[in-house]
Amino acid sequence: MENNTIKCPFCLKESQRGVHVCTGCMATVLYGTFPGWYAFVVILLTFGLSILIGMSTGMAGATISLPIIAAVGFVAGKAIFSDNVVLRCFLNQGLKTK
Ligand SMILES: [Zn+2]
Repeated sequence: MENNTIKCPFCLKESQRGVHVCTGCMATVLYGTFPGWYAFVVILLTFGLSILIGMSTGMAGATISLPIIAAVGFVAGKAIFSDNVVLRCFLNQGLKTK
């Protein structure tokens, strides 16, 4: 599970885990990014829950809870997908997961 090197899918060069750009092709390395569907689920849950809270506590409760739920969702996402390494290359215009 513990992997100290990341292999670039564009230039196939292995870089030390922790680098922010690929040493081979200068692709941006992102850590702990969550997939688009997760962001979608969090947004959906955030609005769903704040509507529910708003129905029981009123508009103020919904307004306060909305950013809190969103923040918790995204922090949880960071933790869940902390092992996720994504390389983004401007030259290749692609997005690939390790
Ligand atoms: Zn590369």
